Amino acid sequence: MRLSKIFGRTLREMPAEAETVSHQLLLRAGMIQQVAAGVYAYLPLAWRVLRKIEKIVREEMDSAGGQELLMPVLQPLEMWEESGRDEAFGKSLFVLSDRRDRKLVLGPTHEEVVTELARRNIRSYRDLPLRLYQIQTKFRDEPRPRGGLMRVREFGMKDLYSFDSDEEGLDRSYRTMMQAYKNLYKRCGLTAMMVEADSGAIGGKESHEFMVLAETGEDAIIFCPNCGYAANVEKATAVKPVLDNEPMREPEEVATPGAKTIRDVANLLGIPESRTLKAVFYRADGNLVFVTIRGDLEVNEVKLKNALKVSELRLANEDEVREAGLVAGAASAVGLKGLRIIADDSVTLGRNFVAGANREDTHLRNVNYERDFGADLVTDIALASSGQRCAVCGAELSSTRGVEVGHIFKLGTIFSQRQGALFLDRDGLQKPLVMGCYGIGIGRLLAAAIEQNHDEKGIIWPVPIAPYQAHLCALGVDDEEVGASADRVYEELQEAGIEVLYDDRAESPGVKFNDADLLGMPVRIVVSRRTLKSGCAELRPRSSVDSENVALELVAERLTAVLEGLR
Ligand code: ATP
Ligand code: MG
Repeated sequence: MRLSKIFGRTLREMPAEAETVSHQLLLRAGMIQQVAAGVYAYLPLAWRVLRKIEKIVREEMDSAGGQELLMPVLQPLEMWEESGRDEAFGKSLFVLSDRRDRKLVLGPTHEEVVTELARRNIRSYRDLPLRLYQIQTKFRDEPRPRGGLMRVREFGMKDLYSFDSDEEGLDRSYRTMMQAYKNLYKRCGLTAMMVEADSGAIGGKESHEFMVLAETGEDAIIFCPNCGYAANVEKATAVKPVLDNEPMREPEEVATPGAKTIRDVANLLGIPESRTLKAVFYRADGNLVFVTIRGDLEVNEVKLKNALKVSELRLANEDEVREAGLVAGAASAVGLKGLRIIADDSVTLGRNFVAGANREDTHLRNVNYERDFGADLVTDIALASSGQRCAVCGAELSSTRGVEVGHIFKLGTIFSQRQGALFLDRDGLQKPLVMGCYGIGIGRLLAAAIEQNHDEKGIIWPVPIAPYQAHLCALGVDDEEVGASADRVYEELQEAGIEVLYDDRAESPGVKFNDADLLGMPVRIVVSRRTLKSGCAELRPRSSVDSENVALELVAERLTAVLEGLR
């Protein structure tokens, strides 16, 4: 492809609206253009990358036993009402009316539709296992589209659904997909970390996410450098230190004027924060709930939401707290009536805590779980953090950030039971299909690839997904010999089956080199008066500072070897 002809132009200036590296570089490279908030056009260079990623994904899904099909974007809203997921998705669901006023949904995912297909077509255990997938555009009206292709409202996704006759079958499908995912990230030239993930309130059993590590990633990951435990912070657990089991003492009031926070109270009384009990108030599906946790820990809202089995959760505001008769800054579960109380199990791991007295500027010493307060539910709702101990091996945990580029999920029989997707088992009994679902965001994968492969000058594409393998720069094209030689190299490379982007423009070397660095093809080839003096072209991998001179007639051969080495 000649750069002089390619649709899309590079920008010299840093686009002001872009916060993440991949967003900045995609805009500067002229690869994407925003059409509406969170809605992008993919220009030819980006489209080539997306198609290459899709090809790798497709090959891995096929070799994992997947059959490709295509389900519709338009889905009847009733399907979503029946599954109850219209509420779970809430405003993220794009809903529209047709000319007969029937409501339709632009599919954000396809569990309902695929389960209906399975219901109509799967008869017996002989039809199983079955793995169906598609690569298709999804629509989600995200509250905060951001980061260029990272979080958009219209995006390409590969979604595969597995159907098995029992849990062991699901385990096999799950492991097969896990391996396929590992293969495909590797083939795309990416390092992805598999982490345990939250499987949400619908009660799925097991779930893993694949994370590309990046500072700008939305997800926090807790991992153990010693044993390899890794989990999304939404799901992560850590050891909660048990405090020494001193004998219970009698409660006594203590004045704490002006001390509103755990830190204030701990400082004032000269005790560690772990010796206090924290109170946090939430609105869960409209109801006020009282949450208590040891003062050295924070509440994990995802765990809390799952424990409460609600779809909406937010911190209660000051008015709501006051109206419930609670004293912010001095509240505790002691003597509390009429409110649902959820306690983190850390409140049981110690004695003689300091907690609010439910009166202004007053706290209680020597508060003990069971004797002085109870809870409707005691469970793990704490946020794990780096520095805490690994629950598996006891070593110190670390944390990092990542971009979620894939999610695999054991659904079990939630959908099949609800939609009556049954099969006849070996024993002659009708049973619900046991399902799994497995998603990959194609555009987000592209963005993550840039987050992981770039320098201050631009993108450094991994060979397997690069739009073109090589970037040929002719310097001084008005020189006949340069023009003719570069043209010849261009033709020979194409004949050798190498994808080349050919900068044949009448631009200065500075402009051409900047664009080559920005666009990031894996190898740059320069043909100029200077290189032609020795009958050569100059080859340089984008990821390296070392270049080599190669005789013109050997460029194709040498380039093939260099590309092989970069893979
Ligand atoms: P997130 O937590 O990032 O919103 P999700 O859990 O909603 O993701 P899934 O429903 O599991 O995501 O979708 C499968 C994959 O689709 C994700 O792993 C991600 O790669 C991609 N994806 C999800 N939402 C978006 C989006 N708004 N824009 C781009 N890609 C997305
Ligand atoms: Mg989402």
